Amino acid sequence: MDKKRLIQEYEKYVMPTYARGPLVIVKGQGSKVWDMDGREYLDFFPGWAVSGMGHTHPSVAGALRRQAKKVLHVPNNYYNELQARLARKISQYSFDGKVFFCNSGAESIEAAIKLARMYGSALGKFEIITMENSFHGRTLAALAATGQAKYKQGFAPLPEGFVQAPFNDLEALKTKVSAKTVAVMLELIQGEGGINVARPQYIKEVRSLCDKLGLLLIFDEVQTGIGRTGRMFCYQHYNVEPDVMCLAKSLGGGFPIGAVIAKRNIADTLQAGAHASTFGGSPLACACSLAVFQAIEKERLLANAQKMGEYLYKKLAHLKGKYHIVKEIRGKGLMLGMELGREGKSIYEQCLEKGLLINCAHENVLRIMPRLGVSKSEINKAVRILENVLKMG
Ligand SMILES: *Cc1c(COP(=O)(O)O)cnc(C)c1O
Repeated sequence: MDKKRLIQEYEKYVMPTYARGPLVIVKGQGSKVWDMDGREYLDFFPGWAVSGMGHTHPSVAGALRRQAKKVLHVPNNYYNELQARLARKISQYSFDGKVFFCNSGAESIEAAIKLARMYGSALGKFEIITMENSFHGRTLAALAATGQAKYKQGFAPLPEGFVQAPFNDLEALKTKVSAKTVAVMLELIQGEGGINVARPQYIKEVRSLCDKLGLLLIFDEVQTGIGRTGRMFCYQHYNVEPDVMCLAKSLGGGFPIGAVIAKRNIADTLQAGAHASTFGGSPLACACSLAVFQAIEKERLLANAQKMGEYLYKKLAHLKGKYHIVKEIRGKGLMLGMELGREGKSIYEQCLEKGLLINCAHENVLRIMPRLGVSKSEINKAVRILENVLKMG
């Protein structure tokens, strides 16, 4: 099928929920993807960080192939060893707790919301405070938690029990707390909100506030997790631990998997029958995710993400000094944003024409999140392309 015909088929048979670029990706490897006409692209935004290990990472692909020969799905009324091993792995890298497995970011948010509500139910507490400009997913409750009106339009009524506070503002947060509040949920770096980084002091104070009032602190690390910011989890930059953490995106190295981990006493409030997900924690998904952790260890990808993140940040900061259209560089590790003085759509479209895939969040923030194993020469090439586009205004 040629590209023109394929696009017609989409128009006829696929719901128009996405604004799609003109690419038909048929192959990927590391930082590269190839279009159906054989053209090569440097992918500095691999699926919102889903392919954070790079495309078709050999360990992940190998684990998937090996597991596919054994068993694809094991229902959750039986045991499967890989799920136990992965739960232990996530806990070892984060905090002492228990994991619930699901298949996506929104589903992990839903699980965290239900967990918080169950936890608060005996006390009549159910309200969750989230942040303005946040993004937590597209299911109805995740949408209600999301602090951006544009995603909610047309979907009323949304589930009740969510209030939003301005990000990075402790005093404003305090005014939102009521007798009904059970939890505070936030992203440490707002991804869809335009790479807004939480201030360390703010996060410390939010933790103290939650401790003082007996509120759960939930970190949505769906985008920031699994090494993206140079630590396994972004909260590890802050010296503050959450009670509950949501994961998805990079967790499966390209294979769908979501997870929520909660401290033991909280996790145990969801007893048998309280929550479920048919596909959650399937052997295939867990095998891929275990391979992700293994590769991060073996290839020292956290150190690379940190080092290459600093290198990329410097390069982008250099562009800021040179081109007035660039207003600010923000982020941590390999989760970086470049705020522009105008809309970024045409910039990323021109980058694509020149062979570089990036993204634009919040109208004017270019989002750049290469694979954790990205090399200096790949960064040099990407920045060269970006500079050529910025140069033209
Ligand atoms: C992408 C994302 C989600 C939703 O994940 P899906 O897998 O698309 O449901 C939730 N929270 C954050 C921070 C995200 O970036």
